[in-house]
Amino acid sequence: MLIIPGKATADHWIKTLHKIDPTLKIQVWPVVTNAEAVDFAMVWNYPPGELAKFPNLKCISSLGAGVDHILNDPHRPKNIPIVRIVDQKLICEMSQYVIWAVLNHVRQFDSYALSQARHLWTPHLPQPMQIGIMGLGQLGADVAVKLRDLGLNVASWSQTAKTLPDIRHYTGAAQLDDFLNNTDVLICLLPLTQQTHGILNLALFNRLRHGAYVINVARGAHLVDNDLITAIDSGQLSGACLDVFHAEPLAQNHPFWQHPKIKITPHIASVTHPEAVAAQVIENYHRVVNGQPPINQVDVNKGY
Ligand code: NDP
Repeated sequence: MLIIPGKATADHWIKTLHKIDPTLKIQVWPVVTNAEAVDFAMVWNYPPGELAKFPNLKCISSLGAGVDHILNDPHRPKNIPIVRIVDQKLICEMSQYVIWAVLNHVRQFDSYALSQARHLWTPHLPQPMQIGIMGLGQLGADVAVKLRDLGLNVASWSQTAKTLPDIRHYTGAAQLDDFLNNTDVLICLLPLTQQTHGILNLALFNRLRHGAYVINVARGAHLVDNDLITAIDSGQLSGACLDVFHAEPLAQNHPFWQHPKIKITPHIASVTHPEAVAAQVIENYHRVVNGQPPINQVDVNKGY
């Protein structure tokens, strides 16, 4: 097994994996002494080409929910399964973040901090707003249900038809306009694929209701940064909350740091906790070395 660690350190991963299976032989990139022994790779944002060095690799396991970092590697070994993390803790943390961002906007909580600083007693009545979620997968579906259960009006959009009680669903390119035309708060929870790259652009913002708010918690490359600033500065958008960026950490001179209507967080909406996911990683390891199909496999042709 090989680890190319992401946010959690390699030591943390090894300790957690060994608690479940102390017999696992783990090498940590970049110090790989036996490339032929590597049969399973756990990876996050690794340098493209690295995985081509392991002739006996049987499976690539993303350390997160997204696999764009793997599919974007033109030299990755083909014809072996790619798996991702599907985990309740990851799902719950994403919902917590999005609920915070939506309520903060809908209930105008930021305005009360400003009022308090100026000793002003300025109540605002919550305005009815339509929440629209792009992507109704593992994360989007949980966000949708939890926002609905908070009494908000929720709609969703995805590639294929879905049914969730009291959530209006729109399907595919044919219904995208209808979905956008009725949205006040747009949440992006799409995977990053060729089809979704740059989807949050000026043309899309102009199809939202006037004064709409954008929350991007998917990938930085979904968003055209300058288009967001143009749409906010023109008043078409009222603001945005962003957790993900084209380059992370965000460059010191990037205009998002200073923009009064853009809130940023350092890609923390939802992170993989080794303790929560070690069992599924080990299950997949045993499956692939025993010739069984792994769980949580992605469809390489779809890109997610
Ligand atoms: P899933 O694969 O479970 O769901 C993806 C959803 O997007 C599906 O509903 C799918 O439609 C829809 N979709 C994909 N392509 C299109 C398209 N072209 N048009 C319309 N809908 C489309 O992904 P997850 O919910 O697990 O994760 C979503 C993304 O969230 C990840 O890929 C990752 O980039 C991001 N993420 C961000 C984190 C953070 O901390 N900021 C943490 C974890 C993930 P259908 O169901 O019809 O196939």
